[in-house]
Amino acid sequence: MSNKIQAIRGMNDLLPDQSPVWQYVERQLRSLMDRYDYREIRTPIVEQTALFARSIGEATDVVEKEMYTFDDRNGESLTLRPENTAAVVRAAMQHGLLHNQTQRLWYMGPMFRYERPQKGRYRQFHQIGIEAYGMTGPDIDAEIILLSARLWRQLGMAEHVTLELNSLGSPEARAAYRQALVAYFETHREVLDEDSRRRLISNPLRILDSKNPEMADMLAGAPQLLDHLDEASRDHFEQLKATLDAAGIGYRINPRLVRGLDYYSRTVFEWTTTALGSQGTVCGGGRYDGLVEQLGGKPTPGVGFAIGLERLMLLLETLELIPEEAKGGADAYLLAMGEAAEREALLLGERLRDALPALRLQVHCGGGSFKSQIRRADRSGAKVALILGEDEIANGRLTLKPLRDDGDQQTLALDDAIAWLARLL
Ligand code: ATP
Ligand code: MG
Repeated sequence: MSNKIQAIRGMNDLLPDQSPVWQYVERQLRSLMDRYDYREIRTPIVEQTALFARSIGEATDVVEKEMYTFDDRNGESLTLRPENTAAVVRAAMQHGLLHNQTQRLWYMGPMFRYERPQKGRYRQFHQIGIEAYGMTGPDIDAEIILLSARLWRQLGMAEHVTLELNSLGSPEARAAYRQALVAYFETHREVLDEDSRRRLISNPLRILDSKNPEMADMLAGAPQLLDHLDEASRDHFEQLKATLDAAGIGYRINPRLVRGLDYYSRTVFEWTTTALGSQGTVCGGGRYDGLVEQLGGKPTPGVGFAIGLERLMLLLETLELIPEEAKGGADAYLLAMGEAAEREALLLGERLRDALPALRLQVHCGGGSFKSQIRRADRSGAKVALILGEDEIANGRLTLKPLRDDGDQQTLALDDAIAWLARLL
């Protein structure tokens, strides 16, 4: 077997050239969560299969064909999480986080779905998500939308995403609507494609999601969920819209937005972009008041969203919104000229890091000529090369050679060199 082992299709390595950009975005996300006082929760990547089957819904794409499911050595059916809402509910119930209290939580990590890999669609991908529990009103729906809107502003991409909004109403209203919808589809059976005919029985609302152009006219004439809302849901929706209006958040009502998972009720929303082709949804979320009860807990309202990080990164790259300083690289690169200097350089490196905690310093290891060391210094991205040779050691001095501008090389007493570096940061 001479074939080299490769990564699994649709599962990406994050290489060191790209990781500073991810870290930059992750930093922004974490600080945003802090600013709204949301707290992080981390759950395992693997859960019992039943958790996802029961929450996401048996007749959804995710459960029907996208889950990575396997038996462990005891014969128990486990699944790599395809999303995290159900797992967070499971953890919150298990640890008593839902009893007589409100929670504002966030998570970040990899999710797994067996999909056809393409740009913006992978088999391992990453989400950051929010889950808020114990609050029934439209105020918390608005808060998480405002939070996401702030993120787009913070990243400089606010004018490139659109908020799409819909309400799915109460389960009862949805059941009545479902009947009206099925009746309508029955009268247009000849236009339905094979997938849709199957869904007509299992999950007719999902037919509205179809991108088949041959069904577009028929779908445009379908009865609308918004016309079937119960009064409480309509009121909830009106209040949410009024808050968004007052906050200056634009939105488009999309009566066909039903989202892929079964557990939503009332508010559903997506942030979409036209800059990424058909993988245009960057963030999706909504309210899921029935989910906790469905998973065996006391009735507890919940609302949340998930952002696809790969799509967010693609969008930021496409729009060239990644600031230069987010791309990482060393500030300084310390060269050691001559054998005696090699150990001294490591020790000096420690002293510099003691004195300048913000300094990103790479100390040259492995010897070599001045020319080869300076080439490495250049590749490190450092703004300045620090040169330590026998003379410098003997006199307690350090030579600084700017690499990115035509400033003069100079040899300074160590304290002055530290002060010079402090100004550089
Ligand atoms: P889509 O309609 O694009 O398949 P979805 O409705 O299945 O999306 P959600 O389950 O709502 O997606 O997940 C929230 C977000 O996670 C999506 O808006 C998207 O940004 C991201 N996402 C979902 N599936 C993938 C995937 N396979 N690869 C990369 N990102 C994904
Ligand atoms: Mg999907």
